[in-house]
Amino acid sequence: MKTDARLLAGLSELGIPYTEQMLEQLQTYYEMMVEKNKVMNLTAVTEKDEVITKHFLDSLCFAKVYLPKRKEGFSPRIIDIGTGAGFPGIPLKIFFPEIQIVLLDSLQKRINFLQDVVSKLDLEGISCIHGRAEELSGKAEYREKFDYAVSRAVARLASLSELCVPFVKEGGQFLAYKSEGAAEEIDEAGEALSTLGCRKVEVLTYSIPQSDLPRKMVVATKTHATPAKYPRGGGKPMKQPIGVKK
Ligand code: SAM
Repeated sequence: MKTDARLLAGLSELGIPYTEQMLEQLQTYYEMMVEKNKVMNLTAVTEKDEVITKHFLDSLCFAKVYLPKRKEGFSPRIIDIGTGAGFPGIPLKIFFPEIQIVLLDSLQKRINFLQDVVSKLDLEGISCIHGRAEELSGKAEYREKFDYAVSRAVARLASLSELCVPFVKEGGQFLAYKSEGAAEEIDEAGEALSTLGCRKVEVLTYSIPQSDLPRKMVVATKTHATPAKYPRGGGKPMKQPIGVKK
């Protein structure tokens, strides 16, 4: 990764400072992911340039929200819901080492892989947890405890909001990585976001650095506490998303 022009240009475009060690960690992560992908389903994309763009730089677009707030002594708590092979969480931990991050996934095998990555990369301030978002967010140690909940490619926004917003503390933000075609699901999620406590919602539109791949990021700020009855059990966040008419 050290000499990869696309990666380095992408990092500068995002304004992310980096060290040799970070680039080495990213390289090791890439190699581990490609190797593990031979025996389990982690990613559809393995070619290096494509991984750099579609996984690494895409994940790091978090910088658009975070860098203006980054300051000495601020060590935000972040939860990555449905992290899969570690996106966006692992690139975030590598390039923003001050964050405290929880990687959550409902598939044990992916969590095992991520634990290997954490130990090989010698990362600290990161935990990999096996579980379902809608169960974990009811626990006092996780509920409304995070500065940011981030999530990419897990569910439509109205459902995803119910999985993510209960983790966010008042004043914190829920960030959903979405594709360009997400306008309709963003409209559809307005009521869910508001009901769950996010009354301020912005949508950033941009291309992944060093590419012409269009993306949107929903930035929902938590202005009110989430009512205790959310998230609902029994698969309701997926089957009957708040405010979505059949
Ligand atoms: N975020 C990663 C990415 O962008 O590459 C992975 C996306 S993958 C398509 C969706 C992941 O979400 C899967 O690993 C799945 O196990 C996890 N997942 C789905 N529903 C979940 C839930 N309710 N709680 C926790 N994880 C969940």
